[in-house]
Amino acid sequence: MSIVHENASLDVDALRADFPILATNVHGDKPLVYLDSAASSQRPQQVIDRLAEIYSADYSNVHRGIHALSERSTELYEDARQRVADFVGAASAMDEIIFTQGTTAAINLVARSWGDANTSAGDEILLTQMEHHSNIVPWQQLAERTGVVLRYVPITDDGRLDLEQLDTLVTEKTKLVAISAMSNVLGTINPVEQIIARAHAAGAIVLLDAAQSVPHLTTDVQKLDVDFLAASGHKMLGPSGVGFLYGKRALLEEMPPFLGGGSMIRTVDLGGFTPAMLPAKFEAGTPPIAPAIALATAIDYLDRVGLDAIHRHEVTLAEKCVTALSSIEGVRLYGPPASERGGIVSFTLDGIHAHDAAQLLDMRGIAVRAGHHCCMPLHARLGVDATLRASFYLYNTAAEVDAFVEGIEAVKRMFGK
Ligand code: PMP
Repeated sequence: MSIVHENASLDVDALRADFPILATNVHGDKPLVYLDSAASSQRPQQVIDRLAEIYSADYSNVHRGIHALSERSTELYEDARQRVADFVGAASAMDEIIFTQGTTAAINLVARSWGDANTSAGDEILLTQMEHHSNIVPWQQLAERTGVVLRYVPITDDGRLDLEQLDTLVTEKTKLVAISAMSNVLGTINPVEQIIARAHAAGAIVLLDAAQSVPHLTTDVQKLDVDFLAASGHKMLGPSGVGFLYGKRALLEEMPPFLGGGSMIRTVDLGGFTPAMLPAKFEAGTPPIAPAIALATAIDYLDRVGLDAIHRHEVTLAEKCVTALSSIEGVRLYGPPASERGGIVSFTLDGIHAHDAAQLLDMRGIAVRAGHHCCMPLHARLGVDATLRASFYLYNTAAEVDAFVEGIEAVKRMFGK
């Protein structure tokens, strides 16, 4: 398959042929224009086929049966763990990659396991104003349990973290800094290296919510020296129901198990249990076997296309979109300049609710997200209850950006604006 031109721009037509859903219509005869990959990406035929192959030929429970099929599925499942480890630059798959249901589950694991064991009243956890609810609520729940105090890095009017505040917010009380590597609303790519260095200098550890960055930007956990990192398969061309937590081995080894049940024990008697080694300690019950194996296929696909080329393509589309929307009266755009953001464009239309606009766009076959995008505190900061969000991925085209902008102009006409 030749999907990358010599000048390293994407051959989007060739790519799109791999994604059967992109050739479908909605509302009868409207070709789908899918601009909602930040919520969940679509997946190529290779991933869909892999899932079918697994269930047709390779599926059994893992780490359990002493039979050929179970051995095969266990090997594939562990190969997938290695594939994930390589993709994010982890030193060890077995000791540092935990398969979870997704980013939310991974962050909850850290909050419950590391948080309960390591925080108490007087300690602080530093979050930011732009976090997704899945990187706020687990810490609020932890605060209710242990009394740890939550603080938030504010954002500037143009949607960046106000890093001038960092020096006063990171103190010797700070135990953890938990931040998103890329905002799912503003598209802001946060300067995580700088934040990690500052946190480490104060003795705090760092968790990156990488749900939006891992699918689009090269990640190297060792180079970043990050302590925990969470991501979701369904946003990176993989199946839903699988994601992962990266954690430094020394931290994961010290942490108590979170969920209890099958697979996570070494021994159990009626008086108690001893936990299994990593990674089983954190993978109680039957894990997402087929989704994890097919996630490896998604990673192969991303690697073959190349994250750098993907990122350049998305930024080009986002820039085109921002430029076109800027010239429309009544459009208010949020977020930093294109050079500091990924392929996400959020905005409001004066006098038109985001939900109404999204519904009218949907009638034209255009799928975007409207609402608070699981970031109510961020929307409160922006002073709006909802935004419209278009998000781009490797399979989107310039023609789709044009269709979207025409759609917005049509929405305005319909509302007499
Ligand atoms: N964090 C961010 C920045 C996200 O965009 C999302 C998904 N919208 C999540 C966390 C949660 O991911 P999941 O629903 O896959 O657990």
